[in-house]
Amino acid sequence: DRHQHGAGRFAPSPSGDLHVGNLRTALLAWLFARSSGRRFLVRIEDLDRARAGSADRQLAELAALGLTWDGPVVVQSELAAGHLAAIDRLRAGGLVYECWCTRREIQEAPSAPHAAPGSYPGTCRDLSAAEQSERRATGRPPALRLRAEVQEWTMKDRLLGPYTGVVDDLVLRRGDGVVAYNLAVVVDDAAAGIDQVVRGDDLLPSTPRQAYLGHLLGLAAPEYVHVPLALNPAGARLAKRDGAVTLEELTDRGIPAGRVLGLIAESLRLAASGESVDTAALLQRFDPEQLPTGPWIVDPTCLG
Ligand code: GLU
Repeated sequence: DRHQHGAGRFAPSPSGDLHVGNLRTALLAWLFARSSGRRFLVRIEDLDRARAGSADRQLAELAALGLTWDGPVVVQSELAAGHLAAIDRLRAGGLVYECWCTRREIQEAPSAPHAAPGSYPGTCRDLSAAEQSERRATGRPPALRLRAEVQEWTMKDRLLGPYTGVVDDLVLRRGDGVVAYNLAVVVDDAAAGIDQVVRGDDLLPSTPRQAYLGHLLGLAAPEYVHVPLALNPAGARLAKRDGAVTLEELTDRGIPAGRVLGLIAESLRLAASGESVDTAALLQRFDPEQLPTGPWIVDPTCLG
C-alpha cells in the first residue's frame, strides 16, 4: 500500500554531530518512508538542548549520505503557537492543572497508591483554592500538568507489536515556559501530516504517553516503528565520547561517505562486507520484514 499523502520523519535534537547510531536511525526512517511512498520530513527539535551551528551540521551530514528530505526543514521552537493551542484545548477540556512541585518535593512525596514507580504523586492535582493561592504567593511560576484519566495506555509498534506503558500526570509546559517534548512531538507530527514515526527504541517508554496525548487531542495515531539503537562494546548506548563515530571523524580517517553508509547498511544486512553503497541502492534492497531485531554493537576502533 502506498501512502502518497503521508509522511515519515527524522527529528534530531541539535546537540552535536550525528554519530553512526543516529545516522542509522535516520537511514531507517528514510527507508521506511520512501519504501511506502511517503514523503520524508526533517524537524529540528531545539526546545531544550540546542547548540549553535549543530542543526546545520546535522543537515549536511544527512545530505552527504543521500538522505534527502522534502520541503523546508521545520524548527520546533518556531511552532510554539501550535503547542500552546494544544495545551489550551486540553485545558478547555479540564485536563490541565498547575503544579508548583520542585523535583525534590516530588522525590520526597509518598507515591500514590497503585501508581507506577516514578509517576508524579499527584500533589498538586486536587489543591483547594486556598492551597493554590498559597503556592501562587511563592511567586514561583507553575508547570502545567496533564490531568491523566488513565494510568497506562497501549499503542502498537510495527516491529514490536502492542506495547503498554505508564501514563501519569506528565508535564506539558515547564515552569520556565518550555513546552514538554512529549506534547510538542505529538502536535508537530500531526500538523505536518506525519503518519509514520520511526525512531530509536530508547523512546519507546514515552510513546504510550504521547499516544494518549494524541488520543485526547483527537489526532490519528501514526504508525510507530521503534528501531534498535547502536551500542558500544560495553553495551551502553553509543555516544560521541566513544570516539570516531561521527561522519566527520570517519571521513578524517579516510572513510568516504559511501563507505560509512555501507557500514551502517551492513549492520542492517543491506550491504556486503566492505561494500560502498548509496541510498538509492539500499531502497531497492530494503525489506522491513527482514530487519535484524537486535542492537548494532559498534566498536569504533574497528570501523572502516
Ligand atoms: N529529538 C529526539 C531525539 O533526538 C527524537 C524525537 C523523536 O524522534 O520523536 O532523541
